[in-house]
Amino acid sequence: MDLALFDPALIERYDRPGPRYTSYPTAAQFTESYGASDYLGAVQRSRDSGVPLSLYVHVPFCASPCFYCGCNRIISRSRSIAAGYIERLEREIEMQAALFAGRGPVLQLHFGGGTPTFFSLPQMEQVMQALDRGFGLSRSPQREYSIEVDPRALLPDSIAGLAALGFNRISIGVQDFDPAVQEAVNRLQSYEQTEQVVLDARRHGFNSVSVDLIYGLPKQTLEGFGRTLDQVIALAPDRVSAYSYAHMPQLFKAQGQINGADLPSSQQKLGLLQLTVAKLQAAGYVYVGMDHFARPDDELARALDDGSLQRNFQGYSTRGGADLVGLGLSAISRIADSYCQNVKTLDAYYAALDTGRLPLQRGLQLSADDRLRRALIEDLMCRDRVDCQRLEHEYHIDFRSYFADALEALKPLAADGLVELGEHELRVTAKGRFLLRAVAMPFDAHLRAAQAPAPVAGAAANQDLPRPAPRYSRVI
Ligand code: SF4
Repeated sequence: MDLALFDPALIERYDRPGPRYTSYPTAAQFTESYGASDYLGAVQRSRDSGVPLSLYVHVPFCASPCFYCGCNRIISRSRSIAAGYIERLEREIEMQAALFAGRGPVLQLHFGGGTPTFFSLPQMEQVMQALDRGFGLSRSPQREYSIEVDPRALLPDSIAGLAALGFNRISIGVQDFDPAVQEAVNRLQSYEQTEQVVLDARRHGFNSVSVDLIYGLPKQTLEGFGRTLDQVIALAPDRVSAYSYAHMPQLFKAQGQINGADLPSSQQKLGLLQLTVAKLQAAGYVYVGMDHFARPDDELARALDDGSLQRNFQGYSTRGGADLVGLGLSAISRIADSYCQNVKTLDAYYAALDTGRLPLQRGLQLSADDRLRRALIEDLMCRDRVDCQRLEHEYHIDFRSYFADALEALKPLAADGLVELGEHELRVTAKGRFLLRAVAMPFDAHLRAAQAPAPVAGAAANQDLPRPAPRYSRVI
């Protein structure tokens, strides 16, 4: 794998808002015309294929709002709110498990949020027991059971308790240790609190520790963020994610609490990213792709090298070929050739499960074209290259004519040395690796359709349907 080369001028030139492609098509294409019968059809195809299952559990609660947050979460100081949620979650687990009977044990499980550690340890145990009853959990050392933790919300025995429940991977939200930034985003979290979680995780056998950072936050400076990066590197996490903050207060109410005048300029943000890349690469971290870095001996870095890396809703993963069952509020499932998302409000979630219905809200059945483009975009995101011949054989197309418009759009990027189109292969260069989104976007048929001129009167009726706001982001 080529080293990723950071070229600020090219990043400035080609960076534009776009999807993070944790799925293709993106959630912006999901519609409410997708219903329970579509889902059951996908489940049947999944059963026929016999692929393994992985699970995602969404815990929507947080004790206080971080002002930068764009997640679907419910702020509550009272932990008692979790009891009713867990009761419904158990029902959902039972209903979904009945559909997928006999497919366990599950080797991949992720708890995300919100704040999964909002649940007490006994509540977490209750949910894990329900998952075990329904799907069958694994004790194999090969299992990947991960959980996002908030160091501010942990008790001294929390990490030991999570290890006893079977978790062996941990993801820690840090964002920035600079007190001025923490105050500006309403997230006060000391280095010592975070260090204690890392030490506990190592002591209790967690074999992967991941840290999340955000650049572009209010009051962030090169000096302060540089210190944060040094502190994070001193913690020696296996993986580091550095996300770009996108200020969209019109979409995310909490962001309205951020003073726009405190935000770094695009130039300063580019400097923050450059510093991040420089410090992490100097410390030996490998750029995996799309915001993610890993130590060379980490499975993600090894998967990047051997071509087995996969893109998923959490970013990247090492196990491909599994169908994903999403459980809980707003959780997304990827089953066979379809995506499906749960309802996003507690009322709707409870109402569905209290009346014996799965809490499905919307989804998408992929067309043949969607499947082809998904395979291509996954190749770009995970392998930095597209094997054109493989796609031609698998999807019965002529690559150059099928993608003529996308290849035309890529010409300026090729002229600037970001991509190379060979006879049988499209390859992202080392300079292009920080602009994977820009390379992928020309292949996104839905994005191109959305960017096309507005339809004239009399065009297809569903063109007028309101679409959910896309969650686009950019590098700077
Ligand atoms: S960033 Fe995480 S902890 Fe903060 S409000 Fe959002 S989901 Fe909750």
